[in-house]
Amino acid sequence: MTHTNHIVEQDAHHVMPTYGRFPLAAECGKGAVLTDVDGKSYIDFTSGIGVNALGYCDEGWVKAVTEQLTKVQHISNYYYSPVTTELADRLIELSGMKKVFFGNSGAEANEAAIKIARKYSFDKYGEGRSTIITFNSSFHGRTVTTLAATAQDSFHNFFFPFTEGFKYAELNDAEGLLEALTPDVCAIFVEPIQGEGGVNIMTGEFALLLKKICEEKDILLLFDEVQTGIGRTGRLYAFEHFGFCPDVVTSAKGLGGGLPIGAVLCGEKTMNVLTAGTHGTTFGGNPVVAAGALEVLKRVADRDFLSSVGEKGRYITEKILKMELPNVVQVRGRGLMIGIQVTESPKDLCKKCLEAGLLTLTAGKDVLRLLPPLTISYEEIDQGLAILEQVMKG
Ligand SMILES: *Cc1c(COP(=O)(O)O)cnc(C)c1O
Repeated sequence: MTHTNHIVEQDAHHVMPTYGRFPLAAECGKGAVLTDVDGKSYIDFTSGIGVNALGYCDEGWVKAVTEQLTKVQHISNYYYSPVTTELADRLIELSGMKKVFFGNSGAEANEAAIKIARKYSFDKYGEGRSTIITFNSSFHGRTVTTLAATAQDSFHNFFFPFTEGFKYAELNDAEGLLEALTPDVCAIFVEPIQGEGGVNIMTGEFALLLKKICEEKDILLLFDEVQTGIGRTGRLYAFEHFGFCPDVVTSAKGLGGGLPIGAVLCGEKTMNVLTAGTHGTTFGGNPVVAAGALEVLKRVADRDFLSSVGEKGRYITEKILKMELPNVVQVRGRGLMIGIQVTESPKDLCKKCLEAGLLTLTAGKDVLRLLPPLTISYEEIDQGLAILEQVMKG
């Protein structure tokens, strides 16, 4: 029996079977290469679902994290942590937002964004203006409230009653949006590129329409940048492609470089909505995680680094198109967030890629999704794409 099979079997005894998992047990990694417990290597086009922004065990990141570990590993939010304060300074300076709240995950950041939207409206207009519009095929998390915000029927099961006050519209459909805009709406919550839902890109035209409507009606515009943030699309945050700042931006996945962190960033309108006692968390802003995130920002928020993400994305897209694969309908995305729409099961393709030594993700019903580490080398890209071509040509 392989070590992998042994772990798969052992895991099944005491870990709840909530994930459809592949038989890979990780031993160690470097850059975009992961090695499993049986010594097999993989090119990683997933970076832990967009988390390991700097790849596996980046030297600078490991140093930043371990140095903080030897100083203070955690301190309650009743006190201050200088590294967390510094992270806040950097995030605000780089994003153009005004204030931040730190949590531990994407779903938590989104919960905070929802609370901010509702309190903003309650403070100003009182009760009855609390509905939030989200978009079909979105994904906002797994808590009872963020599931309600996630506009996919398959997520609205078992756990009734879900949080009230969400309604759903179609992305990039102006008419449908205008119909949904009843007087009870306090916010519009959108992913600039839907990640889990299929790598569906919001158009610049639609983004500007959202901004215009929200300004006119004092509705808050919230961007879920849990997946698109931290350089993933070739800008620090994807909202920069549209040329304006939303009222609230949520961030998580890539921010910690592999450690759990979530952040909700607020603009001028929303930065003072949460007051003492209205929100909190034990672990949020943890200094070790903050030290890692600071290193991520230091590296990613660099002009040349960000343009290299865009270049690598274009390189991958063009190379896939040149393969002239018969089972590919479309290749779309921005930067290193790439969706390959296919005519066969993306899950099967994902499995075949894994067997051949390439890690990939799926999105929606018919998309193979690539989220490589932002630091991936061209050599690693070429190796990964060679495997992809071989698998997709069958
Ligand atoms: C992953 C993801 C989330 C949920 O983040 P968790 O850290 O798993 O809670 C929310 N929104 C988007 C867009 C995501 O990609």
